[in-house]
Amino acid sequence: MKRILVTGGAGFIGSHLCERLLNEGNEIICLDNFFTGSKDNIRHLLHNDHFELVRHDITKEYYAEVDQIYNLACPASPPHYQYNAIKTIKTSVLGAMYMLGLAKRCNATILQASTSEVYGDPKVHPQKEDYWGNVNPIGIRSCYDEGKRCAETLMMDYHRQNAVDTRIVRIFNTYGPNMAMNDGRVVSNFIIQALQGKDITIYGDGSQTRSFCYVSDLVDGMIRMMNNQEHFIGPVNLGNPSERTILEFAELIIKLTNSNSKIVYKPLPMDDPVRRKPDISLAKEKLGWTPVVDIEAGLSKTIEYFDRKIRENC
Ligand code: NAD
Ligand code: UDP
Repeated sequence: MKRILVTGGAGFIGSHLCERLLNEGNEIICLDNFFTGSKDNIRHLLHNDHFELVRHDITKEYYAEVDQIYNLACPASPPHYQYNAIKTIKTSVLGAMYMLGLAKRCNATILQASTSEVYGDPKVHPQKEDYWGNVNPIGIRSCYDEGKRCAETLMMDYHRQNAVDTRIVRIFNTYGPNMAMNDGRVVSNFIIQALQGKDITIYGDGSQTRSFCYVSDLVDGMIRMMNNQEHFIGPVNLGNPSERTILEFAELIIKLTNSNSKIVYKPLPMDDPVRRKPDISLAKEKLGWTPVVDIEAGLSKTIEYFDRKIRENC
């Protein structure tokens, strides 16, 4: 049994990760400030003696004896991370520093949840790990993109300078149950709009692309990365390479929900990446990882979840 700290553990991905690690026989400390996460996501784990919930903000120091740290704490949806941009960059940078300090003291392995946003609006397609990206350092997404890039730098410097056992995963658009109703990202927005018969809001003309990965696949990749025996530190892309336009995605959601919703077009936010698709050959080679959940199966589970949430809120 390992003692594992999951920061951002009450969030969307963190809650799935906590549940899986707990089911595998580990002891979990779930740390969260509940900015975008919710107790509802982990309520079913609270009765378990091997699960501990800590309300804490990772922009402040935290101490515990742990074997592994998954550092996920950070708002991930553009409206949430732009709500308090300065706090977002502090969370990524100070949070990474404190968690790396903790990993160094405890001799723990630390995995950083990085993002495809480190590639910015990519000029290389699909994106490979050796691409350095095309990021605007002064735009409205910079607090998130540059914060995550700096967190990667800190991970590499603690590894080189202090021999901390680090791992970096670059997560591409992931979806599934436990996303917040007010998350604001495309998957939750479109599903909620479709289920409520409201207009589906496409930003721009819908020709921009994304590649969507179901959360159980992602969590599997993260755990493989943390535990890989070769001490492969990454960065490694984790995502589903099946790419589609946002317009195609809206049409798929309308079909799967049998919705009468109409598509409407809204202005495209600044610096919205035009194309995004992971090259996952490195994850395949080093981790033997490949996503297995197809989009219709994953979306059906996500639609069921939001349908239940909407009924509960009525
Ligand atoms: P989320 O917003 O659901 O989860 C983030 C969690 O971090 C929340 O529970 C929130 O309350 C917590 N948090 C935020 N600031 C904190 C702070 N200062 N101290 C303590 N806790 C704090 O988002 P998510 O989609 O689950 O994302 C989890 C991680 O994965 C994030 O680091 C995100 O950048 C990364 N990521 C996610 C995606 C995706 O598609 N979901 C893609 C790329 C990267
Ligand atoms: N998007 C959209 N309508 C929405 C929400 C998002 O058309 O209601 C678009 C957004 O402009 C982007 C894509 O969907 O091009 C993915 O957005 P999301 O916020 O989910 O994640 P991103 O990959 O941009 O961080």
